[in-house]
Amino acid sequence: MMSGHTIECPCGTVLRGIDEDAVVAEAQSHARSVHDMDLSDEQARSMTHPN
Ligand SMILES: [Zn+2]
Repeated sequence: MMSGHTIECPCGTVLRGIDEDAVVAEAQSHARSVHDMDLSDEQARSMTHPN
């Protein structure tokens, strides 16, 4: 099964990963590089939704 997970950043960027861990890592990297912001695991996980 390849359901995948997504996080929609408030800036409009949609991040996708094959699983929750992957999309959390994507979101943390995006937040750091684009928004100069540290996103905690917990914050990122609360933003994920399966697609
Ligand atoms: Zn963003």
